[in-house]
Amino acid sequence: MSLQVTMELKRRGLMFVLSSPSGAGKTTLSRRLLEKYKDAGAHETIMMSISVTTRPARPGEVDGKDYFFVSPEKYQSMVAGHEFLEFANVFEYQYGTPSDFVRKHITSGTDVLFDIDWQGTRQLSEKSRDDLVSIFILPPSMNELERRLKARAQDSEEVVAKRMMKAEAEISHWQEYDYVIINQDLDQTLEKIDHILKSERLKRVRQDGLAGFISTLKS
Ligand code: 5GP
Repeated sequence: MSLQVTMELKRRGLMFVLSSPSGAGKTTLSRRLLEKYKDAGAHETIMMSISVTTRPARPGEVDGKDYFFVSPEKYQSMVAGHEFLEFANVFEYQYGTPSDFVRKHITSGTDVLFDIDWQGTRQLSEKSRDDLVSIFILPPSMNELERRLKARAQDSEEVVAKRMMKAEAEISHWQEYDYVIINQDLDQTLEKIDHILKSERLKRVRQDGLAGFISTLKS
């Protein structure tokens, strides 16, 4: 006779970082990952960390959903007030991750998804290596990257040219990441990201409740 036990072990949430050059598909992948887990319980879901930026909103972007759009003065006051977990200049603008949201979710066992660059990832690695899982998404080719940036049609030609130049610099940091995926096919890439998430959740160091469970096995 088998006894089926439904139980949920306590675990720490993880910081799940997706980085890539602009146009490699990261935003779509983030959205689809969030969508997949949106109705899951607190320990199965993943929440997006919404960054603060001094960049003006693009058409269709919503304040408080895509970013918190702030003035350079407000941004500086947040830096001075130690409100960011990490922050960096990317292109000509400033970006930062508010600490409170992340800490609250990680300690209560909910995973947090980050769309940040290599500078931010490096800062998280220095501060919280055990909580961090980082993935770098590569485009299949530079031609394809340019095609995607142009198809996005949200940025001017000058901005696209600048982003192409920056892409190479961003890609040069691929060795600082735990995982690297070439985004040839969106569905397959999403599946790979999901496999990584599911495996990382099972890591012994993240399962805070294991010792308690093991002790029940011994009694
Ligand atoms: P975009 O302006 O195209 O939304 O983002 C430009 C770059 O800034 C992207 O590579 C994105 O990952 C990065 N980024 C967005 N938010 C943050 C943040 O809070 N911190 C860091 N370090 N990079 C960010």
